[in-house]
Amino acid sequence: MEGAAEPGVAKSSSPFGRYPGGGQKLLGSPPDWSNCRSGYGLDLARVTGVTTCAYCGLDLTETFNQWLLMSVDHVIPKSEGTRLGIEPAYINDMFNLVLACAGCNAFKNRYQLPGELAAGLDLRTPQGFVSLRDQVFAARARLIAERRALEMAEYERRRWAKPLSPPIERPRRRVIVGPAAAGAGPGPSATTD
Ligand SMILES: [Zn+2]
Repeated sequence: MEGAAEPGVAKSSSPFGRYPGGGQKLLGSPPDWSNCRSGYGLDLARVTGVTTCAYCGLDLTETFNQWLLMSVDHVIPKSEGTRLGIEPAYINDMFNLVLACAGCNAFKNRYQLPGELAAGLDLRTPQGFVSLRDQVFAARARLIAERRALEMAEYERRRWAKPLSPPIERPRRRVIVGPAAAGAGPGPSATTD
């Protein structure tokens, strides 16, 4: 278990150093891609021992509500893998996957690699692939941290903790007992202003 994330503070240190083989070796593709939280995300957490969002550090197994945010991110996206002619076996291998919270995962959609990142790398070897993966992870972690900072500023500006308008006054109910209620039947009767 990692420490709880500070809100808005992005941790960009790569989780791959904690993976078996230091994240340098093929680990296999998760067998069950049908469901994240009880399938491929769970498998990834079990195999790597990492249960936190790779981008913000939120522990995705600590509470039920955090578990609901669990998603898995392809660091080198599938679309970019196809474009660069990378083996699908590498793209879908756990050494290209990280756990991410739903918020961070949504921030990096449609990421395109700058062309120069892949230059000079032999992407048909695990070494070349891992070298590209680490550069892409660092680049995307920076982008996600920037986006989180913008979102945090927006959150603070909105001051969600305060109601947007005063609560509406509801008519008070008044219970009348004693002589005023005489003849109104047994027990106290209630009326409104
Ligand atoms: Zn996150």
